[in-house]
This record gives sequence, C-alpha cells and structure tokens, in this order.
Amino acid sequence: MSNATRIERIYDQVVRRNPGEAEFHQAVKEVIETLGPVLARHPEYAEHKIIERICEPERQIIFRVPWHDDRGEVHIHRGFRVQFNSVLGPYKGGLRFHSSVYLGIIKFLGFEQIFKNALTGMPIGGAKGGSDFDPKGRSDGEVMRFCQSFMTELHRHLGEFTDVPAGDIGVGAREVGYLFGQYKRMTNRYESGVLTGKSPHWGGSLVRREATGYGTVHFVDEMLKARGESIEGKTCVVSGSGNVAIYAIEKLQQLGGRVIACSDSNGVLHHERGIDLALVKRLKEVERRRIKDYALEHRDAQYIAGGSLWDIPCEIALPCATQNELDESAARKLAGNGCKAIAEGANMPTTPRGVRVFQQAGIAYGPGKAANAGGVATSALEMQQNASRDTWTFEHTEQRLQEIMQGIHHHCHEAAAEFGDPGNYVLGANVVGFRRVAEAMLALGVI
Ligand code: GLU
Repeated sequence: MSNATRIERIYDQVVRRNPGEAEFHQAVKEVIETLGPVLARHPEYAEHKIIERICEPERQIIFRVPWHDDRGEVHIHRGFRVQFNSVLGPYKGGLRFHSSVYLGIIKFLGFEQIFKNALTGMPIGGAKGGSDFDPKGRSDGEVMRFCQSFMTELHRHLGEFTDVPAGDIGVGAREVGYLFGQYKRMTNRYESGVLTGKSPHWGGSLVRREATGYGTVHFVDEMLKARGESIEGKTCVVSGSGNVAIYAIEKLQQLGGRVIACSDSNGVLHHERGIDLALVKRLKEVERRRIKDYALEHRDAQYIAGGSLWDIPCEIALPCATQNELDESAARKLAGNGCKAIAEGANMPTTPRGVRVFQQAGIAYGPGKAANAGGVATSALEMQQNASRDTWTFEHTEQRLQEIMQGIHHHCHEAAAEFGDPGNYVLGANVVGFRRVAEAMLALGVI
C-alpha cells in the first residue's frame, strides 16, 4: 500500500469513528496529509501504527457539572477532559469555557496540543478540556460555583505527574484560582504544579499571562528575519481582544509595529492612529466590557458592528480569536492588500482553503501549533518553578520564552527545507512535532 493510500484510509477511519466532529476531522487531516514523506523515510512508523494510535485519545472523560446561579436556579453543563497523549510527559493543555464547546472542539484542541507541546521541546504530553459553560455575563460567585462543581469531578483525574490543565478561551487567572482552590480542598494537598496560569501571587509564573501573545510575535519576527525583514514600522491587525490578542499587541508595539485594529465576536475596532492598549486592557481585563466601548472614549476610532477585520489593509495579520475565523475569501483579501506575514495566536483560526491561499501567495504563514506554543511552553516553565519551589524574574522568564520560540522557528524552518519545501512552516511544524512523539512512542512500546 502506498503511504498516500495509507494516510487516506486512516483519515476515513477517523471520520467514521468520530462522527459529527468536524473540527477534529479538520485538525487530523491538516496534520496527517503532510506526513507522507515522513512515513517514506521511517517505515517503522507505519509498521507500529503510530498515526492510528496518535489519532485515538488515551482517555476521554465526560461529566455532568450542575451548579446554582445567583437566583437559586439550577443549571446543568457538560464537562470534558480529553487526555490525548502522554509519551512525552504528563497530559498538558488548557480548559475552554465557551458555549460552542462540545467533544469535537475539545478533541481538535487536544490533538493540536500533542504536536504543539512536542514542538516546545519540554516534557509535556497533550490534552484539552472544558465545558459549554460561558462565564461571560456571570457574576464572580456564579463563576466560582461553576468552577467548584467542575473540579469536584475532575480532580480525581489530575495530578502534577498525571494531568496539568491551564486556561484557554473563557478561563483566565480568576477561573484557575477557583479551580485550584477546590482541588486543594478536595485533595488536602497544596500541589502547585497541578494547574498552570495561576496568579504570580500564589505560585504562578511571571510572563505566563503575556506568553502566548508575546510568543506569537516572536515567531512572526523570526519568520520576517528569515526573509531579511522586521516588524519595525509595519502596519498590523490582531483579531480578538482577549488575553492572547492583548499581549500580541503589546509586543508588536514594543518592537515598533503599528497596530491599527482588533476585534471581538461582535465587531471590529479600527483606530488608524494606533490602538490605545492601556484602554483595551482596562475595558477587557478590569471592567470585563466589550470592545465597542473603546469608541466611546476615542472619538476618532471606528467601531464596525459585524465587520471583518481582514478587510483592513495590513502587512502583518495575527488571528488571535478562535478556530476558523479566517476563511478563503478573507485570505484573498489579505493577500490582495499586500499582507506579508500571518502568525496564528489562536488554535486553527485559518480554514484549510485560507491556508492554501497564503501558501500560493508566498506569504510567510506560521500555523498555531508553532506560533502560539509560547503559552504552553511558559506553562512548562511554571511547572519547573513549582517543582523547584522557586520564582524567576520577569526578565529571565521572558528570555527563556524568546529562546524557546526561536528554537521552534529554527526547527520548523530546517525541517521544511529538509523535506523539500523551504518556508512551509505547516510542513515543518507537523514533521518536527510528529517525529518527536513518534520516536517516544516507539521507545515506550505498544501502550
Ligand atoms: N490553552 C493554551 C494553548 O492552546 C495553553 C495551554 C497550557 O498552558 O497548558 O496552548
């Protein structure tokens, strides 16, 4: 059987065995369709059914999460934790609280996480979890009761050597705090290393909050440097206005980029004079408001309800909101407007057809599993600090993050060239991540 046929059959089987999970199918396809040349060089991977085993999670946990709102009404949500692969280390990956969450979303994220975490070079396996609960518009008390109920079930599946969750969409330091509090109470152990993304006041790492956004910008910086260019003076747009977007904007501005637009799920904010990041931080981090309120304070800024960020001409575009937010027509628009570089701060934000447009246009394109790996890499640095009961300075931690991102870029760049398609970071990231996991799986036997 040819390797192309083998890969097609594996994909067909994944679709059959996981019905209705479109995002998971998409994530699997995007990885395995690039692996033909790797199988050609390593027939032992096919012989030991490495791809088939990677596509099947080691364990999937689904549970009921009941809680009371402030009026005393009972709500029932569904909790998930998909422990995908643990050959490189304990399961590691965030929790997403959002109304769109279902098993297919958690599996796509968990699958991506395996390769992303392998790319960081840190000893962490891949997992993801979450719930269809949306903290937006809920009081602190409601969020706390939800988190306590969620952790009451999940705690028995976690541990610093077993599974270490963190944040994702809808889960920040507040939620991690409530989750940790309940874990501590249930287990009677102050086990700092069981969750990352903790507040630096009680066991968290400096730079973890900034890490995903900063890391994405370091990745784009490396891609531009490889082409003899830099961020300095370039016009940038960043989708989203959550944790990833905010710190991507901060690092772009530090490196001399001109960030003129960001967004949220309701609309687009265009401020040609440059985004006032202090205001975005106050609105989003302190007051938990929507981005349209920015235009109330800056009369020269334009808020376009329901608009598309990708219509705004730019040289650097960072999708930092959510999956499949950038489709083929948006990609054409960006390419037509002269965009030079895209790096994904979100997970799988570009559709497969959108990716093809970027590749055909010769735009530098950094896929999420490489470009946004700075978040989980800094989570691993948080685990290191917790294990040694140490705290590092901001400067030292940021330095480590930057080195890790440079290393990821370097390895992806080399692997793309090695497999005959220089500059193809999709190929490079998939090959490097997959090879690391495959080698460990061979070494550990059929488990
Ligand atoms: N949710 C983040 C990601 O997509 C971070 C996961 C973590 O820090 O464990 O990589």
